[in-house]
Amino acid sequence: MPTILSEVARQKEIRYFLISFTDLFGTQRAKLVPTEAIDAIAANGAGFAGFATWLDMTPADADMLALPETSSLFQLPWKPEVAWLPADLVTPAGNPIEQTPRLVLKRVLQQAQEQGYRVKTGVECEYFLLSPDGEMLSDPRDRQMKPCYDQQALMRRFEVIAEICDAMLALGWGAYQNDHEDANGQFEMNWTYADALVTADRHAFFKYMTKAIAEKHGFRATFMPKPFAHLTGNGCHMHLSVWDGAGNTNLFHDPAGELGLSDLAYQFIGGVLHSAQALCAFTNPTINSYKRINAPATLSGATWSPNAVSYSGNNRTHAIRIPEAGRFELRLADGAANPYLLPAALIAAGLDGIEHKRDPGPRCDNNNYTEPLPSGTAKALPTHLQAALQQLAQDSVLPRALGTGFVQSYLQLKQQEWRDFNAQVTPWERETTLDC
Ligand code: ADP
Ligand code: MG
Ligand code: MG
Ligand code: MG
Ligand code: MG
Repeated sequence: MPTILSEVARQKEIRYFLISFTDLFGTQRAKLVPTEAIDAIAANGAGFAGFATWLDMTPADADMLALPETSSLFQLPWKPEVAWLPADLVTPAGNPIEQTPRLVLKRVLQQAQEQGYRVKTGVECEYFLLSPDGEMLSDPRDRQMKPCYDQQALMRRFEVIAEICDAMLALGWGAYQNDHEDANGQFEMNWTYADALVTADRHAFFKYMTKAIAEKHGFRATFMPKPFAHLTGNGCHMHLSVWDGAGNTNLFHDPAGELGLSDLAYQFIGGVLHSAQALCAFTNPTINSYKRINAPATLSGATWSPNAVSYSGNNRTHAIRIPEAGRFELRLADGAANPYLLPAALIAAGLDGIEHKRDPGPRCDNNNYTEPLPSGTAKALPTHLQAALQQLAQDSVLPRALGTGFVQSYLQLKQQEWRDFNAQVTPWERETTLDC
């Protein structure tokens, strides 16, 4: 039975609906629709001019229509008269617009499903709480050199953290822990893994919710990959396991396998290592992303972010970590990663690994910060956005799985971003070059 949104509105006392989609740069765009109009809009779609968003469209293109996923309704716990609905974009004739990030993820999940797999993901969204202008930490007393798990600083932000955690509990996400992270002013809040599309919608909503609740308390939340050069950046680790089609058996779990992982899991990891350099175009999608990976040690002593294409056991100095039996963690991604494109690209790389039975080679147990792998042992991570974009442009795995039209659009916009950046003259250049 289709969900009648006006009925839901009556039951839950919702007055307005945000019909929301995430564009290629991760920006959420929405129309706020009153309950009086919601059934008609849900059936026909909310209209948007594509060129006004980051979707690589022109001002001459026909309007796009956003069709809400009525079964994925998030009533805003901090503003219960409003509900948020993730939407998919179609043309006026009803054809999917293939560069819609949420549709790219659905496309990859469809490929997984056709092979009998159901992918489950968990995501860790680190963020900083700053002053409203973004210049300073929200808490001037948060100054320890090793601030990770700092109880005093965590509790000075109890009102914000507890409001977000209570919201996740109310939404039924299985929130289970909150902590101060490794940078001054940085926090992380964890909830339980679920089907990849469910986690992606929650990830998108978490970013919106965290920013909104922080604003309510007079702060500013940022997921920017590396807001401060001397502090640990915002990671967006993704944990992943592959299950049978019904979602009952974890196919990555094998008690007899190395570290409790099955051959299938190692093939998946082999695929991720194989495509890692092109994958960075999605896991590390901004100019600033490359200040977080391959970075010098931070004030706390470690960046906690990778500097090579390598995997390990329960060791946080590599791009992939196997924390326990039955899953792996990708530590490469940062807070700028698009909640839909990150899992889409990761799963596409992993499915290719399964298809070609890719061998990840032996795991690395070294401390890759103090004793880096000898050169030639592991592929290098791109050192800047343009290098990752070039890898994606030449890649034979990701465009096929994600859609060649989508990848073309993505590259088009991201290459323009790179040109815009290069048109800037930075203070650092003036300082180092003025007297040349
Ligand atoms: P850490 O900080 O050690 O990397 P966290 O506890 O912060 O780990 O986050 C772990 C994430 O992994 C959570 O979202 C958790 O639900 C998720 N997770 C646990 N088991 C699995 C699994 N089998 N598949 C996918 N995600 C998982
Ligand atoms: Mg208008
Ligand atoms: Mg964590
Ligand atoms: Mg963390
Ligand atoms: Mg982690």
